[in-house]
Amino acid sequence: MTNDRTVDAVIVGAGIAGLYQLYRLRELGLSTRVFETGDDVGGTWYWNRYPGARCDVESLSYSYSFSPELEQEWEWTERYPAQPEILRYVSHVADRFDLRKDVTFRTRVVSTVYDDSTGRWRVDTDSGETVDAQYLIMATGCLSRSKDIDIPGRERFQGPTYHTAHWPHEGVDFTGMRVGLVGTGSSGVQSIPIIAAQAAELTVFQRTPAYSLAARNRPLEPSEIDAMKAEYRQWREKQRTSGFGVPVPEATESALAVSEAERNAKYEAGWQEGTLVSILAGYTDTLADAAANDTAAEFVRQKIRERVTDPDIAETLSPRSYPFGTKRPCLDTGYYETFNEPHVHLVDLRKTPLAEATERGLRTSERDYEFDVLVFATGFDAMTGALNAIDIRGRGGVLLREKWAEGPRTYLGLAVSGFPNLFTITGPSSPSVLSNMVVSIEQHVEWITDCIVELRERGIATIEATTEAEDEWAEHVEEVGNMTLYPTADSWYMGSNVPGKPRMFMAYIGGVGAYRERCDAIAANGYEGFRLEERVLSSAS
Ligand code: FAD
Ligand code: NAP
Repeated sequence: MTNDRTVDAVIVGAGIAGLYQLYRLRELGLSTRVFETGDDVGGTWYWNRYPGARCDVESLSYSYSFSPELEQEWEWTERYPAQPEILRYVSHVADRFDLRKDVTFRTRVVSTVYDDSTGRWRVDTDSGETVDAQYLIMATGCLSRSKDIDIPGRERFQGPTYHTAHWPHEGVDFTGMRVGLVGTGSSGVQSIPIIAAQAAELTVFQRTPAYSLAARNRPLEPSEIDAMKAEYRQWREKQRTSGFGVPVPEATESALAVSEAERNAKYEAGWQEGTLVSILAGYTDTLADAAANDTAAEFVRQKIRERVTDPDIAETLSPRSYPFGTKRPCLDTGYYETFNEPHVHLVDLRKTPLAEATERGLRTSERDYEFDVLVFATGFDAMTGALNAIDIRGRGGVLLREKWAEGPRTYLGLAVSGFPNLFTITGPSSPSVLSNMVVSIEQHVEWITDCIVELRERGIATIEATTEAEDEWAEHVEEVGNMTLYPTADSWYMGSNVPGKPRMFMAYIGGVGAYRERCDAIAANGYEGFRLEERVLSSAS
């Protein structure tokens, strides 16, 4: 195991991003240390062990592409893999490439300070260890820091409470229990049917209903696995050049340019296909025009009405306050049907807001509810939470979270002005969460790796985004975002799920393929928008 105190690179996080970055830097011969809070690899798939946790990008696409051998030898069992299978996969990758030996587990990075005089980063951990590195790569995840449970008096409840993102490794047996569950985003939508199947009573507290589509999950046939393996390389290329990191036929017309019957036939085909984007990507303007969007939204609401027996419950479950796709849609297995069960109850917090937690349960503006156990599926301080939780000090001791007090600013979501040699994998203002994230992770890791190769070949000690490039990028990201309906919703994409967080669209909707081209062009033009400094520094290796 590496335990050097002076290294070429420190990577924070050992999820899909951190592990691949380690693999790449090791290939270059860089001495690298990875710090990870958890006690094993996997990131998202290590922490989110709630019942029903599952990927909603297909397994054959939600996987690393960097090793054709890995691609050929791994056998996925389901169309949409469940958390244990993805965790096994990531663990297999760590074993296969012998990655764990450079990861220090159970160790949180608490502060990092850039030293102007040496051009190096000092990294401090909660174990008291301090490491000095030339490059600091944050692989801390977009959805790794759970949101504080902002329910008054939550500590008063005397029974056990669980957050979906910190689920006990041994699982939870809800048999015979009265369960209260808050939150109906993807984590709630996935866990509700499974918890309902065990619990004596399940009461779901819903503030904003989700648009959820039937996943149509199923075991994979050996023949389809073989077919994919035969053409994997071409498929990966299509992923990289696509809009969302998932190849779909390109839409050519407005939803409003066709008849209702034609439109609904297309939506029905998308519905039958059961993917996140099959309805969203059907027309050019679904995410850009409110009237076009409403045709798709209404189609999904109709499906909810078909799936839920009681029309009042169906209406409560039907989203009407924001356009389809502007909060992340969900894929579900039996979600709406669960509300047809007599022991499952739905509380509409828009009508009777949650007031507080009590010793025995939850209190709304209307009444008290008693539970044996509470489950919070209340989400994340997304995009910036994990980065802002670390004291990251750049030039002149400036704190990153203070620089970002009005919202995150980056160049390409990869770098931040004033923070030389700091890279953020899937950082704010990159496509990240608007894509199949493995594709975006690989793109960032490869760009960072190529950048480091070039810096070293040219004897350049530091690379730093200029404020001009950062400003231009921020303007571009905002402009493209404003051409869509995303900013009209209160979502975690906008930071509006966390009280007090600045409201800003934090991802880049320009498309995975176009974004990749732009990043590559910037590198090819000698790292346009970056300042490269050639002073000679002492190297760790
Ligand atoms: P993460 O997996 O979040 O890993 C980051 C790691 O950094 C964590 O292990 C964390 O402990 C560690 N860390 C953070 N801060 C510190 C610190 N200060 N010190 C030390 N360690 C630290 N994406 C998709 O594309 N498709 C999906 O279907 C999908 N499903 C998802 C389901 C769930 C339940 C969640 C929460 C997210 C999902 N995502 C999905 C997004 C998912 O996060 C990414 O796909 C991907 O796993 C992110 O990998 P990562 O390595 O970038 O970050
Ligand atoms: P989320 O989408 O942010 O959902 C959180 C839910 O909790 C929302 O319904 C929210 O209501 C509710 N909530 C939060 N605070 C509340 C409060 N104080 N009182 C009442 N309700 C409250 O979080 P998530 O479900 O964990 O998902 C986050 C993201 O992770 C997803 O969008 C997705 O990107 C990823 N994910 C993916 C999958 C998958 O299927 N592959 C599964 C899980 C997660 P409001 O909407 O009103 O704020």
